[in-house]
Formats: sequence, structure tokens, C-alpha cells
Amino acid sequence: MPLSEITKAITKAESDAGRAPGSVKLIAVSKVQPDARVRAVLEEGHRVFGENRVQEAAGKWPGFREEYDGIELHLIGPLQSNKARQAFELFDAIHTLDRPKLAKRIADLAQETGHCPDLMIQVNTGEEDQKAGVLPADADDFIEMARGLDLPVRGLMCIPPVKEEASLHFALLAKIAARNGLEGLSMGMSADFETAISFGATHVRVGSAIFGERVAG
Ligand SMILES: *Cc1c(COP(=O)(O)O)cnc(C)c1O
Repeated sequence: MPLSEITKAITKAESDAGRAPGSVKLIAVSKVQPDARVRAVLEEGHRVFGENRVQEAAGKWPGFREEYDGIELHLIGPLQSNKARQAFELFDAIHTLDRPKLAKRIADLAQETGHCPDLMIQVNTGEEDQKAGVLPADADDFIEMARGLDLPVRGLMCIPPVKEEASLHFALLAKIAARNGLEGLSMGMSADFETAISFGATHVRVGSAIFGERVAG
């Protein structure tokens, strides 16, 4: 689907939900996509991208940044503490804060460098064993801990279980955010970003609908 179709669908979903135009940020998820496809989207003027691996982003984005101004890069995949320094250099936002150890590491790097990417806390709303994120029952305490470290926590992120109704998870994430006074909600992917917007998403992460199917690796 062309980028313009996605942005049109986002504008419509904002309006249907009674939300302000431009209140939802589209993160174009470029992981595993060939450079030519990414470049085509850059040429269309889009500047906000998401990657789920630090290593892959490091190989790809410094080059694009030399060519195109104003790129904003979001890390949407798991972050190991030993990659945090590299993530600090590459990313404007990290959506996957989910462990005390990582929070402390990020706080140390923020002290040292005098800056910090915007942070979202990942919540494992489906309580899936294989998935990262803090459990819903632990979210309030984790948010308080992160705030205690002076981290710039902007919101929450979730990846609903594949086989469940996504809207239940979007509603749960929105509820946890609201009771903690957090505005940001990173939720919604190619199949369900319009639903996510109706539940208050501020950041939708859309990959295959923009770039086409990822080549299985
Ligand atoms: C790959 C990925 C996406 C994009 O998925 P699509 O279904 O291709 O839109 C969104 N969020 C995360 C965390 C991802 O890893």
C-alpha cells in the first residue's frame, strides 16, 4: 500500500475517534526491508522509522542520515543492557524499556551523556512467556521506579498476542497509562492500527502495509 494510503487511513481514524489531526505518529517499521524500499519512503518525505535490532539499525541508518535531514528513529525491539550505549547513539526513542537493570543502565548513560531518548515501557499485556515486557500487575511499580530514576518515560507499548482480539490489549494498555498519568501509547501494527487509534494510540508501528511483506529470513 502506498504511504499516502496509510496516512489517509490514519487521518480518518483520528477523525472517527474525535481526536485531533496529527495526534498519531506513524512509525514506518523498516526492519529487514531492502534499502531501495526504505529509500523510496524517504523520497516520499517520510522521516519517522522503527527498527527492532540495534545492530541492523547501526548498519543502515547512519548512511541514510547523511543523505536525508530530520530522520527520527525508534527502537521497537528488545534492548540488551550491553547494547544500550549504541542505542543511545542511534535512537531518538526506545519503546522497549522492561527491566530494572536496563532502566538503571539507561539512567547511568543519561547522566554520562546529558541526554536521553524518549522512553516507552513495554507491557506484556497477554502475559506470554516468550514475550518481553513487564506484567500488567507489575506495571504501576515499574513506572514509579523508572520515574524515580528521572527517566523520560513518555508512555507504554504493547504487542498483543497474535490469536487474541487486539482491542482488549489496547484497552488494557490505555487503562494502565491513564491511571499513571502517561500520555504516550505505542500500539497498533499493519493489521490493526486503525483500531489502536480508536483506543488512543499516539504511535502506530506499521511495517508490511507500507513496505510490503518482509522476506522471511
Ligand atoms: C515488525 C514489528 C511491527 C510491524 O509489524 P507489521 O505487521 O509489519 O506492521 C510493529 N511492532 C513491532 C514491535 C515489530 O517488531
